[in-house]
Amino acid sequence: MKYKRILLKLSGESLMGDRQYGIDNNQVLQYAKDIKTVFDAGVEVALVVGGGNIFRGLSAEKSGMERAQADYMGMLATVINCMALQNALESLDVPTRLQSAIKMEQICEPYIRRRAMRHMELGRIVIFGAGTGNPYFTTDTAASLRAIEIKADVVLKGTRVDGIYTADPEKDPTATRYENISFQEVYDKNLNVMDRTAFTLCHENKLPIIVFDMNRPDNFLRVAKGDNIGTLVS
Ligand code: UDP
Repeated sequence: MKYKRILLKLSGESLMGDRQYGIDNNQVLQYAKDIKTVFDAGVEVALVVGGGNIFRGLSAEKSGMERAQADYMGMLATVINCMALQNALESLDVPTRLQSAIKMEQICEPYIRRRAMRHMELGRIVIFGAGTGNPYFTTDTAASLRAIEIKADVVLKGTRVDGIYTADPEKDPTATRYENISFQEVYDKNLNVMDRTAFTLCHENKLPIIVFDMNRPDNFLRVAKGDNIGTLVS
């Protein structure tokens, strides 16, 4: 395995499978199986899950809600997703702990950095819920932040596309995928990898990012092994 400790970010939308809203339990179970394979190979895995399949602060603001209030609702949505993923992992006998940036003591632990790291050392997958705990941020930023805090070797962004392209591959058929790209090139070419806050955090802390297609079973394992799939930003 190339990496010892990985933080994997899954968007909320990825949990929808073919649905238009909410959670597809088969899809969640498939992700849990993929995560288990990497975990079984001895890699320490932490997870950050988005909430866009349930609620997004920015969209709610556009339809008249106050942004901060809406963002807190979005953070709660991430916890619902985290619980679904926790349930799926536990159904496969993978030990997990869910830590939330907003206290919800009946259902999960509060986020405590040292405890999270200890869980990982003891062979548990840690799932970070409620993003950063702050409105006006995203779960991509939570992923970068937590990855840096727990000293992960890399942050993986599992998406539906298999990497970063010269242009949007769904709109431009001539677009080609980068295998490797520098942080500076991403800025210069104005490519969309993560939001700027999340991306800058990784850049300033020299945390590499890999964008890859999580919807192909075994891709997560391949990335963990160091196979050249997806795009590595470093
Ligand atoms: N959110 C927030 N602060 C955070 C993380 C998330 O306010 O640190 C809110 C925000 O409203 C966001 C929603 O939670 O729209 C869901 O998160 P995100 O959009 O990042 O999820 P994803 O796009 O990955 O599904």
